[in-house]
Amino acid sequence: MKNVLIGIAWTYANSDIHLGHIIAYMPGDVLARFHRAKGDNVLMVSGTDCHGTPTTERAIREGKTPREIVERYHEQYVEVFRRLGMSYDYYTMTATSYHAEKVQDMIKKLYANGYIYSKTEPASFCPKCGKFVYDREVEVVCPKCGAVSKGDQCGNCDYVFQAQDLLRGKCRICGSQTEIRDNTNLYFALSKFSKPLKEHFEKCAKYWRKNTVNETAKFLDEGLQDRAVTRDLNWGVPVPFEGFEDKRIYVWIEAVWGYVTATMAYCEQHGLDWRDYWFKKDNQENLIYMCHGKDNIVFHSIIFPALLMATKDPYLMPEHCVSSEFLNINGEKISKSKGNGWPMLDMLDKFNPDSLRFFCIANGPEKRDSNFTFEEYHAQHNGEIVNKFGNFVNRTLNYKGLDGFLPAGEMDNDIRKKIETTYQCVEKNILSCNFRDALSNVMQLVEDANKYYDTMQPWVLYKNEDKTAFNNCIYTCVQIIANLSNLFEPFMPFSAEKIREYLKLNNKPTWNYIEAETGKNFGKFEALFTRLTDKDVM
Ligand SMILES: [Zn+2]
Ligand SMILES: [Zn+2]
Repeated sequence: MKNVLIGIAWTYANSDIHLGHIIAYMPGDVLARFHRAKGDNVLMVSGTDCHGTPTTERAIREGKTPREIVERYHEQYVEVFRRLGMSYDYYTMTATSYHAEKVQDMIKKLYANGYIYSKTEPASFCPKCGKFVYDREVEVVCPKCGAVSKGDQCGNCDYVFQAQDLLRGKCRICGSQTEIRDNTNLYFALSKFSKPLKEHFEKCAKYWRKNTVNETAKFLDEGLQDRAVTRDLNWGVPVPFEGFEDKRIYVWIEAVWGYVTATMAYCEQHGLDWRDYWFKKDNQENLIYMCHGKDNIVFHSIIFPALLMATKDPYLMPEHCVSSEFLNINGEKISKSKGNGWPMLDMLDKFNPDSLRFFCIANGPEKRDSNFTFEEYHAQHNGEIVNKFGNFVNRTLNYKGLDGFLPAGEMDNDIRKKIETTYQCVEKNILSCNFRDALSNVMQLVEDANKYYDTMQPWVLYKNEDKTAFNNCIYTCVQIIANLSNLFEPFMPFSAEKIREYLKLNNKPTWNYIEAETGKNFGKFEALFTRLTDKDVM
């Protein structure tokens, strides 16, 4: 039995969650459900990332407090994950006092270890707002062409602003001219971790997808820069040092630490030791997976490992980064202006959650961006899920000769072997994070099952009153379905559960060949899926 920690990227609390997020998170749930079925000790954690400027900007725009914004989105995310069957053991948020306290402990430890230092530099200060202003908060007059821009590049002539250019500008909050003042911030000495991070990279590259390998290598080659730990904000985790009362911990450092604080919180509530998931111990096997999109790679492959190293505690390194590429809609990026990032709650009102999960895995952007169109989604739902899986289950369990009873019979040997091979293939593919292949292994078994049914022609056996042959055929088909409830568990858990209930199987899925018992009254079976029509679009 292994201790398996699965960390899924934290959703940023400033907009509706959509399919593009979900497609990067879904591998985490597949891993969690698979490892649980194997009997491993799984802990799947994540939460809502509450701090940072886009949240405070939205709060100002809507005349609300940042906490109101955060709580609204957090509630939505929790609802989406529940309806999608994302089996989080613990889903929290970074705006809790528990998280703040544990982040402060980490910061103090890094400071004591000499990896956090303070540095004073000139910065933009708005005298009217009485605070330092950054990036998006400052409008800069381009020294080349005189156009006004925000950010670090001129929107008119593409001139890249130098540090000095950014100091003097206009505060976007109040419109006043900013002035230059000395500002003291804390920095994390990321540069000191070049060597151990390179070693970490070399050790893990064999597990990582190409995008993680490439981006991490590029980031390391460019040379690691120390990073600011504090920012002039009033929304975030307070800095645990005197003189920094007006500042907060920068979101990049505390959000990734959420994986650790969420584990601590969960274990505290359940009488467990969080170190069992995070620390190296003799006679203990561990796996740590981090599932996220490609926009988050270096935070998981470099920054988070560096923080773990900087504590000097015996942390295990998160070796398995499962970094998805992006999902496009109708060949275009998901964006607000295009309105194609349909809120996930609206999609769940229209579509079967298992079908959406199936889409996310079967079309997972594992090596390149993938695309969503309703034509393809409908084709996959009707063609694969309804016609193949749904139909096989339906025509077997609703067979009129069955009357809800599974007759005693003999299992077909070839089919049994195929089922056993499928368990092995799916396991191998899930463990190497090839989820698309794993799902197509299960679908191959469904196709073989349909072929078996068509070849055996149970309806002919029934008509000819060949009772033994009929019973053997139905018995075999029902046992395929019993095993499909295990094999589909990571991908389509709602359907898997319906089958388990119907066949009166053990309540928990397992990862080995099983057989349903004969002689039980199963009752009437209701179809798992309904067909989609042209009207089923957003
Ligand atoms: Zn310019
Ligand atoms: Zn101002």
